Amino acid sequence: MYKITWDTETGGVLLSSTVSKETLGVSPRPVFYEELDLLRLDAEGWTYPRCNEPIMWAVNKQYWYRGQMLFEAKGANIYESATLFLAPNVEPMLLEPVDIEEMLKRNADPMFLIESEAIAFIRDTYVAYADVNKAHDAIKANQCVDFEALAAMVEKKTKQKMAVVKEDCDSFDVVPLDVAKKEGKRALLSTRIDRFIVSFSGGKDSQVVLDLVTRAIPPSEYEVIYSDTGYELPPSLDLYEDIKRYYGERFPALKFSTTRNHESVLNYWDKIGTPSDTHRWCCSVMKTAPLYRSLKVDGNKQARVLAFEGVRMEESVRRSSYNRIGKGVKHSFVINARPIFDWNTTEVFMYLLLHELPVNDAYRVGKPRVGCIFCPFGSPWDDMIVNRIYPNALKPFLSKIESIVQERKIPNATEYIAERYWKLRSSGTNVGNRTLVQIKSSVNEFICVTTNGKKDILVWLPTVGDIKIKQSETSAEGYFTFAKQAYKFQIERQGNKTTFKVQDGNNIKLRYMLRRIAHKAAYCINCEACEIECPTGALSVYPTINIDTTKCIHCLKCVDFHQHGCIVADSLVTTMGNLNSNSKISPYGTFGIQETWVEEFLRDPEIFWEENSLGVKQVPSFKAWLRDAEFIDTKNKLTPLGEFCSQKYTDYRDLVWEIIYINLCYNNALMNWFENEVDVNQSITREELECKIQEYYNGIFAKSSISYALQALLQVFKYSPIGSDFQIFEAQDSKNKSFQRNSYENISLEGIVYSLFKYGEKRDVSMFRLSDLYNSDEQQGIYKEFGIPKNELSKSLRALTVSSNRVLTAELNMGLEHITLVEKLSPLQALIKMTE
Ligand code: SF4
Ligand code: SF4
Repeated sequence: MYKITWDTETGGVLLSSTVSKETLGVSPRPVFYEELDLLRLDAEGWTYPRCNEPIMWAVNKQYWYRGQMLFEAKGANIYESATLFLAPNVEPMLLEPVDIEEMLKRNADPMFLIESEAIAFIRDTYVAYADVNKAHDAIKANQCVDFEALAAMVEKKTKQKMAVVKEDCDSFDVVPLDVAKKEGKRALLSTRIDRFIVSFSGGKDSQVVLDLVTRAIPPSEYEVIYSDTGYELPPSLDLYEDIKRYYGERFPALKFSTTRNHESVLNYWDKIGTPSDTHRWCCSVMKTAPLYRSLKVDGNKQARVLAFEGVRMEESVRRSSYNRIGKGVKHSFVINARPIFDWNTTEVFMYLLLHELPVNDAYRVGKPRVGCIFCPFGSPWDDMIVNRIYPNALKPFLSKIESIVQERKIPNATEYIAERYWKLRSSGTNVGNRTLVQIKSSVNEFICVTTNGKKDILVWLPTVGDIKIKQSETSAEGYFTFAKQAYKFQIERQGNKTTFKVQDGNNIKLRYMLRRIAHKAAYCINCEACEIECPTGALSVYPTINIDTTKCIHCLKCVDFHQHGCIVADSLVTTMGNLNSNSKISPYGTFGIQETWVEEFLRDPEIFWEENSLGVKQVPSFKAWLRDAEFIDTKNKLTPLGEFCSQKYTDYRDLVWEIIYINLCYNNALMNWFENEVDVNQSITREELECKIQEYYNGIFAKSSISYALQALLQVFKYSPIGSDFQIFEAQDSKNKSFQRNSYENISLEGIVYSLFKYGEKRDVSMFRLSDLYNSDEQQGIYKEFGIPKNELSKSLRALTVSSNRVLTAELNMGLEHITLVEKLSPLQALIKMTE
């Protein structure tokens, strides 16, 4: 929030509201003697006291003392200590601690202001929602009133901003917002809240929020919950005990509780795979689900929760897009309130020092962030600290990674672990999963064959509707209702295979749900994650899946959750898809697909192979590219899509290249790797690209094949509009040594249609959610291909919905986000209709 400059007199920092040339670009964190010991500064001849106060400050890995950069630490990883590089003219010296008392005195005013503002925010938020509760009680409402929705309804009629305000203790009124403000009336914000909580993580941010909340709200009105993920850092567990003691003495009415998943995180590593950049199941399974499952009310019903949390926008780009109050962001029943949303790191530490609160020891040894012990979002620096200071706690996780490396015969094992390549896991090959779901639907029948399913489909089928069933040992048949209609189903069980058939009359919505239900049943290991989606308390998943049919309203929220209806299925299914030895990366030689070749080919595909300007070696490469673009078939004959593009090239050049690129993303192993493994806005050097590809295709392709394939891929961007016009992968220097991946938002409506139909065709679905395309586990689709932002895509979808040659309908209002494709149209037929 405040700008920061060094204070050379105290050795501390000064907070200021104005920017000057001394203002620091990054907020520094305090450095304590324990971190200097870890860096072996004492052995290098430096002298400093072993005291409670910080000695200096760190900005990233640069260490600053009284306004002077002394040294930089580089090269640390799980096996190696950091190397220190002294700044010019710096010699080992005597270091004095920061004069904390004086520094705090000098920053008293700004700290008072941000603290007071945060406390007022907490109090106002609490009072606003507590008032809602009182209003509910007073009007004896049996069900919840959504005051914001009520205000929005009146707004539509009056065409001005409205607010629902409390009139007296048992009534409320809807008045214009400016009138409410003028009269000092507080707008009632939302529905009733069952539980106010502070979610404590052991980190500095949640610690500050907890302290602020204790100063704002009576202790009997909220509770503190610590989610123990099972791989917490030892000092975080110690700090939680200290905190319980500290506040317990001051506020005996304050309730503390700890939540955990019923199963250990290492067991889940075996069953779901190691958490990775792509598969972040651990937060949902180990943290969020146990937390919210513990907050049930009225039997098994999900409580409506207001959670005060320590999220700050400085932490990441994603978090900076949050609001200070987030309503139903991740879960419909949770309101997240973020009192220190715009505080910086220095202010947070300053608060801990000012109020003499205990500091998590992990910060004292140099962890910039306190999270799980071995997290895919950590860094080699984190690993170095954890392995040096908490080796016993790390051991089970490190051993597990080491044994995976050994089993998979990964070369350069040390580098693989030190550079954290394990976090790139997008393959399920090391999980040993043997479950398979094959959808083989025909026109009027949904057919699904499951091999080695974890649960019987009948376990999850009651979510869809009421069921009538006749069972024998090897088969079952019956009816279920869906949207007031009865559907006949059959189940045949043979050994480890189960075939599930539904006469679904080609009902797209039903098919969409059945597909998810089939995956849920096949992969369910009772992980807890989807239970908290159930709004009525009908669903409980541990120790067995139980759907209370007297409570289930068939809302399908537990099914319409994640791409496959199951977080475990997402981790295992999508990871199995791409990486297989049938993928080919070498038939292109070192040549990419070039614009001049494509133009020449499309101008006259009939005679092209008899007469063209290509060199001998370029011909097989170009054929391979054309096959991946789906312009020619395996016998090198022109396909209907090739013919379409040949006819349209003059008028629709960009569309043709969009089609080529989309098809390459599906059919070309390296382009598919690229769309998944290089993030939009990411800058990357050629060397890094090569390392990443080696890691990904480790053991599947020879190093030389990978090298050639990369050369060919880079040529695609260099010699075709995919790179030159769309700038999807832009060379940043003349020698092509570094690149930047960009989003391409100007994709044509026809290109969008082709991409969506292709996505539907590959999944055998005509309906999916917009958010499926943006799901972090999704490996295909328009976002992966073009990086187009959701709001831009939504605009185009709305235009397509109202277009005269409509091929799809997008329902994007009132919380809906379903895209329904006109059935029976192939991607090419949709294109033809669009360009008629
Ligand atoms: S179906 Fe639900 S409880 Fe079962 S594994 Fe999947 S997400 Fe977890
Ligand atoms: S979320 Fe609950 S109510 Fe809705 S379908 Fe699932 S079990 Fe039934």
